[in-house]
Parts: sequence; structure tokens; C-alpha cells
Amino acid sequence: MTAYPSSPLMGQMMDQPLLVSSIIAFAARHHGDTEIVSRRVEGDIHRYTYRDCERRARRMAGALQALGVGMGDRVATLAWNGYRHMELYYAVSGSGAVLHTINPRLHPEQIAYILNHAEGQYLFFDLSFLPAIEAMAHHCTTIKGYVAMCERAAMPADSKIPLLLCYEDLVDASSDEYAWPQFDERSAAALCYTSGTTGNPKGALYSHRSTVLHAYASAMPNALNVSSADTVLPVVPMFHVNAWGLPYSVPLSGARMVFPGPALDGKSLYELFESEGVTFSAGVPTVWLGLVNHVKQNGLRFSTFRRTVIGGSACPPAMMDTLVDELGVEVVHAWGMTEMSPLGTACTLTAKHRSLPAAAQRAVLRKQGHAIYGVDMKIVDDDGSELPWDGTTYGHLLVKGPWVVSGYFRGEGGEVLQDGWFPTGDVATIDPDGYLQITDRSKDVIKSGGEWIGSIDLENIAMAHPAVLQAACIGVQHPKWAERPLLVVVRRPGMALTGEELLGFFEGKVAKWWIPDDVVFTEALPVGGTGKIQKNKLRDAYREHRLPTA
Ligand code: ADP
Repeated sequence: MTAYPSSPLMGQMMDQPLLVSSIIAFAARHHGDTEIVSRRVEGDIHRYTYRDCERRARRMAGALQALGVGMGDRVATLAWNGYRHMELYYAVSGSGAVLHTINPRLHPEQIAYILNHAEGQYLFFDLSFLPAIEAMAHHCTTIKGYVAMCERAAMPADSKIPLLLCYEDLVDASSDEYAWPQFDERSAAALCYTSGTTGNPKGALYSHRSTVLHAYASAMPNALNVSSADTVLPVVPMFHVNAWGLPYSVPLSGARMVFPGPALDGKSLYELFESEGVTFSAGVPTVWLGLVNHVKQNGLRFSTFRRTVIGGSACPPAMMDTLVDELGVEVVHAWGMTEMSPLGTACTLTAKHRSLPAAAQRAVLRKQGHAIYGVDMKIVDDDGSELPWDGTTYGHLLVKGPWVVSGYFRGEGGEVLQDGWFPTGDVATIDPDGYLQITDRSKDVIKSGGEWIGSIDLENIAMAHPAVLQAACIGVQHPKWAERPLLVVVRRPGMALTGEELLGFFEGKVAKWWIPDDVVFTEALPVGGTGKIQKNKLRDAYREHRLPTA
């Protein structure tokens, strides 16, 4: 940790550490009656208030203390978005322990690897994950107990899980007397592992300070723009980079919260959006695909939903156009990553853009956006020299800021910073107004004859074709050009489309040499645990594909 010099004249302001517990304490005291609504694993709807949430979080913090969980100890969760998970966000971190959210969509072996690597002491889980836990419990060497997030009556009988505890029993046995402890704001608060598409997963260890600062900054108007007038439904899971910080920024803003539980299909989400009057949401493009299709196919409309953040992978322009023009939902395209807590940029217009024609405004909004205060970024060439912000020169994207990792948990991956900057692994352009556009992940860039072709642009064009549901573009070997683009496409149900027709659609939309060499049609694309298309799997599947030009 860097030690900074102090001035002979220090400010005379209260020295209050920025602790995660202060967020829920604020919400309970100043927005005490505001609701948290959850669709539970059981299927029913549960309602209570920030006041209830904070009280139960304190009781759970007391229960953790009674179990011997101390400062810095890791407590893991395998859970959907719901009120008990929210309580754990505060009970665990607020007590000084470290909340380790695990993606249940990972392979059980990977979950056991992550748990052992993190040396987790307790694992809290939603009942839907009981079979997975039974299958892997004997591989988890550091766990002292498993806590089923349910009432006593719902506890599984004859479970093979050793040391099985009941969540509601722990809350009941604890008292309201527990008071949030105060400690150094740089203490670890939460731990998230990257999905590890290459190599083993690596842990990003957030501090209380980084989490609170990220929550402040991400709630601002140029970012998520959350206020106490909003009802927020995080579709992005609480195990995917802390639901992009919403469990912190929503109570900090005093907004009403609606948790969808495990029901993330278009129909269930639409019903909840309507019945609870949701105004704002956030999720990855694959989830919006399901919701938008449901709404369009059934001739439905949103009555309160006004704005959504889309990130995690590039938002296809066709999806943005449908949401904005047909369904009246403003789209904020955002970029970030696990290593950045996650928010780095968000795309909103400045005063200068307001006088532009609608099409030019939309062109700006398609980018990943402007850095939010706290994040600095630059693009560099292979030698590390900084490249110009001209909107066309692309390079490796580096970032820095108080909510960007300085290294991985337990030193995994060694020294990661380059002169104090974190290399994101993304390739991007930045325009003169400071708007970032991601061209690709560096490992997904297609290298054709020494030049780079960005796969995101090609996918966006393909997805603008009315007969295309989903498209991914990968590089496959070519004897002359080293690599050439291959499009892997899922057609919309009931629609006909040939590869030739689709390639013809690219004419005039990109440079000729960017046009893919071939198209293959498939029933579905492989999707990973965080809802992103797994290009490594596609590359494996089409490694032997012979291009017509080869
Ligand atoms: P992982 O998928 O590695 O677990 P993250 O969920 O943290 O990790 O994903 C971070 C990566 O997702 C970024 O580095 C970037 O490649 C991609 N990404 C995130 N948001 C966007 C976006 N709006 N457009 C394009 N790519 C994005």
C-alpha cells in the first residue's frame, strides 16, 4: 500500500471510515419505510423495508460472531438476488468479515477450487443449489458449516451435507443489540473471482473504501442515475461483480428495490416489472434478449420501466434501437469488469450532443461511454506508448482508480499493474470527447494479414439483420491471412436466411476486407456463467472449419 506524505496543516473534518455498514444504516434511518420486494426461490413474493433489512443484517452479523467468524474471514454465498442475500451483503462485510459471492453457474469443481482458494469458512446457499453442494461438499476442505437460506420448516431432511445450519434459526437466536463495528476503511469487504475463461479464476478483493466510493460514483446522474424516486430491479446477479454495485448504490440513494430471485425468463421478469412498477434495471444483453422478445411477441408494453443499464458485453445497436424506439426504454451502455468493482464508463450525452440530429446522438450512445469520476483510462500501443484520443486509433486499454484492483487475491497472477495502471485486456478507441468504444477483447481480436478486425462491429451488423437472433464472430485459421472472420449465427425462429444473403447485408457497412469469409448456422451459442457468449468454446468447435477462401 502506498504511504502518502501528510501536510503540516491537516483538515479539521470528522474522521469517519467509509464502511459498507454505513450504507444500510443510512437507508434504515433515512429511508426506513422504503420497500425491498423479493420473488423468493419458493415462488412467492416477500416484502419488507430497509429498516427490517438492517435489523436482520445486524442479527445475522451477531450470529456470525457467535459462530466464531472474525475480521477478514471469508463467508461465501451461492444465492440468487433476494432479501436474504442482501442481508448477507451487510451482515458479513459490516461485521468485518469478507463476503465471497460465488457464481452457481460454474462447474462444481470450479466452485470447490474457488472456495478452497479463498479458504471460505461458511457457505450460505439458496435451496436450489442443494444438489450441487451435496456433490461438492467433500471437496471443500476449509468450510466449517453450510447455511441453508430458508426457514426451519423448509430445511432439507436427510441431507448428506455435514454441519448444516438454518438461516432463520441463526437470525432468531441472535439479538437486536449488535452494533456495527468501526474499523479501517481499507479492510477487505468482498471477494469476487473472475470467470477464468483462461487459466484458473482469480480473486478481486474489494475494500470498504473502494465499495463505498464506487457506490457513490455509480449512482451519479452521468452513470446509473439512481434516486429515491426509482424502483430498481437488478437482473444482473448478486454473484456477478456484486450486481454491479446495485445492492450498495440503491440503498445509498434510498430507491426501492425489487429482487427477481431465480426467475429470469422474459415472462417472469415482465410480470414483476409491471406488478412492482419498476423504473430502472440493469443486465447483460443476453437477458434483455429474452425480455424484449417476450414483450414484442406478445404485443406488450412497459408502463413504468424507463431506463436500463446494459453492459458486461457489447449492447448490439439493434437491441438498443428496439428498446428506445419501440419500447420507450432509455439505454445506458456501460463498460466495466470484475477488477473494477465493476463500473468504468457509462454512456450519456453531454450538453454539446443535445443539438445533434437524433442519428448522431444514437451513434454516441452506442459507444461504451465516458469515464465516471474516479476512473482514469488510456490506450497504448504494443510498446506501452500512449495513443491519441481520435476515435479511430485503437490500442490496449489501461485503467486506474480507487476501485480498480492493485493485484489479485493471494498474489495469483503475480504483479499485474503496468506503471501503476491495470491492463484490462480490452482493445478500444477513445474519441476527442473522451468516449470509449470497445473494439474487442484482445484475445477475441481477429488478426488478418497483420491487421486487426474487431469482432464486435461485425456481430453488431449481423444482429441488425431481421432474421438474426444472435451472432458471434471468431477468427479461424487461413493459409494466406493467418486468420479470417467466421460468423456463427442463430436464426430467429421460423425465419429463413442463407449465408450468402447475410454476407450481402455487410456490403457497404464495413471495409470489404472486414466482411466475414463464411457463415455457419447453429441452434444456440454457448453462454457462460455470467450470460456472455463463450468465444473460446466456439473457437474450439470451429477450429477445423475450412473457409471457402482458404
Ligand atoms: P469475466 O467475463 O472475465 O468474468 P467480467 O464480467 O468482469 O469478467 O467482464 C469484463 C469484460 O467484459 C470486459 O473486460 C470487456 O471485455 C467485457 N465488457 C464489459 N462490458 C462491456 C461492454 N459494454 N461492451 C463490450 N464489452 C464489455
